[in-house]
Amino acid sequence: MERSFDVIVAGLGAMGSSAAYHLAKRGAKVLGLEARTAAHDQGSSHGESRIIRQAYFEDPAYVPLVLRAYQLWEQLEAESAADLLNIIGGVAIGSSHCGLISGCVKSAKTYGLVYDLFDANEMKRHFPQFVLAENEVAFHEQNAGYLRPEECIRQHLRCASKRGADLRFEEPILSWTAAESGEGVTVVSAKGVYQANSLVLSVGPWTSEILQSLPVPLTVSRRVMFWLRPVAQHSAFDKKIFPIFLWEPDQGPFLYGLPRIDEAGDPKIAIHHGGEECTPSTIDRNIRPEDEAAIRSAIEFRIPLLNGEVSHAATCMYTMTPDEHFIIDAHPRHPQVIVAAGFSGHGFKFSSVVGEILSDLAMTRKTAKNIALFSGSRVRHQ
Ligand SMILES: Cc1cc2nc3c(=O)[nH]c(=O)nc-3n(C[C@H](O)[C@H](O)[C@H](O)COP(=O)(O)OP(=O)(O)OC[C@H]3O[C@@H](n4cnc5c(N)ncnc54)[C@H](O)[C@@H]3O)c2cc1C
Repeated sequence: MERSFDVIVAGLGAMGSSAAYHLAKRGAKVLGLEARTAAHDQGSSHGESRIIRQAYFEDPAYVPLVLRAYQLWEQLEAESAADLLNIIGGVAIGSSHCGLISGCVKSAKTYGLVYDLFDANEMKRHFPQFVLAENEVAFHEQNAGYLRPEECIRQHLRCASKRGADLRFEEPILSWTAAESGEGVTVVSAKGVYQANSLVLSVGPWTSEILQSLPVPLTVSRRVMFWLRPVAQHSAFDKKIFPIFLWEPDQGPFLYGLPRIDEAGDPKIAIHHGGEECTPSTIDRNIRPEDEAAIRSAIEFRIPLLNGEVSHAATCMYTMTPDEHFIIDAHPRHPQVIVAAGFSGHGFKFSSVVGEILSDLAMTRKTAKNIALFSGSRVRHQ
């Protein structure tokens, strides 16, 4: 048996790397165990870019958290001197009463966020790359942008190590047991047995494997990201003039995309809803003709200049809850075990603040942040 720790963090992806960093920052003795390598491409956090935005259409309750997330990304950038957060502006497109537009407006009004609403003609002037239907509008927010996910994870890990966190890679946890008293856990990994006061489980799409006895209804789904070479005017998709976008058409899938973020790169585009159910071991990593056909039919008339050859494509996994809100909560029988899961395809931008919350919960069993929306019991009782 090795020495014991204040907290063990299992899974050092987006959420776990941030939890390890915040724990180390507050002086906790932290052990991080990761099954694979740092910032690998087999989970949910790879693919060069992740959208960040403030007027959260999903629920206004996310806004204070995302505002804190921005501050924490800026602090991590300053500490690491790395390029993590890029604010380039963003648009959400849909008919004026669709859930996307009304949700963005509601969050913006609730929290006094600055935005513009453009009709189809105004969009032609501001962003001619998009072709809107006559009944569609665009909600524009200047503070939207993107993060570089692999670099965010690497910097959280590097800064956690610098502050004394003991981080071990290619060392999966195999099982854990929690004392009935509510204090103390024992974790068995592929290489050792460890003890700690608390355990953070942040294993993304692998959560159901580690929480077998807990009836949290999570489903994992396969998603495909495409990088497309524009048919002409490549510079029209540069990050200086092409915003991140979300698009909820009346007909067709909900899609999103990002500009080319490096000189040699291409814009990225993907479909947000749907996706075949899978597990981390059964996911089909091959790109199929029907994946490409779905993307092409979504953009053919909406972003025609982008409909060029595929320069690259990759699969990734969403871990969905039934209501698409996160789970950030203590285990119902073991308050010393904190679960962070079910980020439902929109969690990355929050990972800086989720790590801060996880460190609060692991060390003090409470947090000043409002996380009522993310309770595990609301999901289990549905
Ligand atoms: C294609 C795609 C696009 C997305 N776009 C956006 C976006 O634009 N904006 C946004 O905010 N969010 C986005 N998301 C969602 C976001 O990326 C995820 O919500 C987030 O990355 C999930 O992080 P995680 O820490 O839960 O999982 P992961 O980052 O996958 O981390 C889980 C880690 O646990 C490790 N692990 C598993 N089992 C064990 C074990 N037994 N022992 C130890 N370690 C283990 C894994 O190896 C992995 O490293 C997107 C997701 C995908 C797939």
